[in-house]
Amino acid sequence: MKRTTGQDRSKTAKWRAATRAVRGGTWRSEQGETSEALFLTSGYAYDDAGTAAARFTGEQDGMTYSRLQNPTVQMLEERIALMEGAEACRTQASGMAAMTTALLCQLSAGDHMVSARAAFGSCRWIVDNLLPRFGIDVTIVDARDNAAWEAAIQPNTKVFFFETPANPTMDIADLSFICGLARAHGITSVVDNAFCTPVLQRPLEWGADVVAYSATKLMDGQGRVIAGAVAGSEEFITEVLLPFQRNTGPICAPFNAWVVLKGLETLELRARRQSANALKVGQFVEGRVPQILHPWLDSHPQQKLAKDQMDDCGPIFSFVLDGGREQAHAVLDALELIDISNNIGDSRSLMCHPASTTHHNMGPEGREAMGVPEGMLRINVGLEDPDDLIEDLDQALDKSGL
Ligand SMILES: *Cc1c(COP(=O)(O)O)cnc(C)c1O
Repeated sequence: MKRTTGQDRSKTAKWRAATRAVRGGTWRSEQGETSEALFLTSGYAYDDAGTAAARFTGEQDGMTYSRLQNPTVQMLEERIALMEGAEACRTQASGMAAMTTALLCQLSAGDHMVSARAAFGSCRWIVDNLLPRFGIDVTIVDARDNAAWEAAIQPNTKVFFFETPANPTMDIADLSFICGLARAHGITSVVDNAFCTPVLQRPLEWGADVVAYSATKLMDGQGRVIAGAVAGSEEFITEVLLPFQRNTGPICAPFNAWVVLKGLETLELRARRQSANALKVGQFVEGRVPQILHPWLDSHPQQKLAKDQMDDCGPIFSFVLDGGREQAHAVLDALELIDISNNIGDSRSLMCHPASTTHHNMGPEGREAMGVPEGMLRINVGLEDPDDLIEDLDQALDKSGL
């Protein structure tokens, strides 16, 4: 393998964001391929027994087994680290593998964690069901309430865990305040940045310790693979995360890593265009529905905070109809262009009814507390012409009686 400048931090540190996204982490084989190679191999052969021994002790750099290292996967990890401004990154099989790894690698029985109420359904399952089974105590707070984070701290608090904007309520958490509070108390902040990616929001710049991703979302962005990533300091990744990951094995497959690598090359273009489309579609929807939750609109109570910490609004927003589940389902069933689907970040526009899909497990009380009413719809705005999307929504809202 030839190390290109993409693997040389003395060079890549000076590159601007767009260059990092296209060339960061690139490695070349002796064939000199321009596009990153896909290494579908589980193992590696050594020239002699001494080399094998030196690889295992770490005296010699190089691959030993694809649960531990793979060239394609390493290219993706270096590219995400560069885009995030992180010292190091490791990828996982899914966003949920990333969240589970980021939390379990550092928590033990007797520890305490503070977690945001509004969150992705499976993140709430980990917080509400998995961690307590292992003796890890969790306090749930309204992530918008800075004082609540402070009040929840206990002597054994190890981790703050939250996403912003939150799914599907579009609550914004104050990155600077919450991560600063964590630092001041020796608590590790873990931010799920799936809605934004480093193109739209870089939590590490606001003081976060660890950023965790579903790379399935905007990073792939074309609805093809499931993948995840965790980025942070070299110390956290090598000393805390890696022993857990290497031995439990929730790794990203090389093929999926390769697809995400190619996705990152166009991430900035897609995230910016989808944000512009989401603003235009949001402005239309605002005039047609009783309530909209869109961080770039004046009606969002946290618009200023959102604009301070995000570079653009991203592709996702939610809105609420008065007619509950029946009317929300009627809108979905009347769509002709936009698909009924629960993925986000995709280049296709997709809409879902969180109460009956992504958040159905939480039960009515859980949804009520989180702010997910029966009449809520969430949309991911894609790369189609926004006027076609507006026409589709217009006719679907008409048919539902709006
Ligand atoms: C999708 C998502 C996840 C889970 O990621 P998967 O790749 O589906 O496992 C976690 N957090 C947020 C905010 C998400 O949107």
